[in-house]
Amino acid sequence: MIVVIGSINMDLVLRVPRMPLPGETLTGGAFRTIPGGKGANQAVACARMSGKVAAGGQQVAMLGCVGDDEFGATLRAALVADGIIDSHLTTVPGVASGIASILVDDKGQNSIVLAGGANDCLSPAHIDAAKELIEQSDIVVLQLEVPMDTVVHAIRLARSLGKTVVLNPAPAARVPADVLALVDYLIPNEIEAAMLAGAEVDANDVKALASALRAQGSDNIIITLGAKGVHAALYGGDHDFPAQAVQAVDTTAAGDTFIGGFVAGLASGLDEAEAIAQGQRAAAWSVTKPGAQTSIPHLHELY
Ligand code: ADP
Repeated sequence: MIVVIGSINMDLVLRVPRMPLPGETLTGGAFRTIPGGKGANQAVACARMSGKVAAGGQQVAMLGCVGDDEFGATLRAALVADGIIDSHLTTVPGVASGIASILVDDKGQNSIVLAGGANDCLSPAHIDAAKELIEQSDIVVLQLEVPMDTVVHAIRLARSLGKTVVLNPAPAARVPADVLALVDYLIPNEIEAAMLAGAEVDANDVKALASALRAQGSDNIIITLGAKGVHAALYGGDHDFPAQAVQAVDTTAAGDTFIGGFVAGLASGLDEAEAIAQGQRAAAWSVTKPGAQTSIPHLHELY
């Protein structure tokens, strides 16, 4: 089983010809509400990329919080529709669900503002209450859109139970060094890698970033580089994995889809290089489709 611990948001997505300047009013295109949030996206990507449980695919569980509003009900239903276990998805009374206001321009680039809402309520107590679920899992996947003390608590618990820990340190934030040392796979993008490595490391030198992060103690570093692919510093050595050449229309959730494809691959017994290739294949597919969870492929759509 894969347990994903993290955020669940409703994405409020608006197409724009270009990003507005401060004080400027632009007329946008179509507006849509699409289930998102890094945690939920990664759970959906893990589930879709694992294939059907009846056919031997991994079960996926989501640990997080939604509000007791219409978005919360829709977000829970979207996870359940993907076969994700919601037994430890808490509906917090009197709190709004997390939202992300997302602008997507004609080049497929996005710009995002978050309101954490119920995600900010995910506490170490929720993690302790899910100890049995975590015990049953093989891999625990986390990001940084929920409170840091909860992420730290969950990583410590998962490691003490002998689980493989995958951390996507996004959005970019400092993570305590003793916690990074407990991470098996640290998967930042370039911006997050630069933030974690510190200002003294050249942010344009991806190898230097990877070795600085490795020195902080995580076993394996996988830096995603958008259309340039992935640079990985693994136990077996350093490798570059070029991305597939595709026409990007919307890069929302590219990183989340990569992580889902990678983690599902690891869980199904692929080696790290094969799992990275699967993650990239899934992510390349996702950037050709609009939205977050609407753009995440199923395993059978890729092969
Ligand atoms: P994030 O969405 O977290 O910023 P990236 O932009 O680095 O993450 O993208 C994650 C992965 O998605 C990349 O490593 C790559 O495999 C794939 N990807 C992203 N953008 C493109 C693109 N334009 N073409 C092909 N693959 C892409």
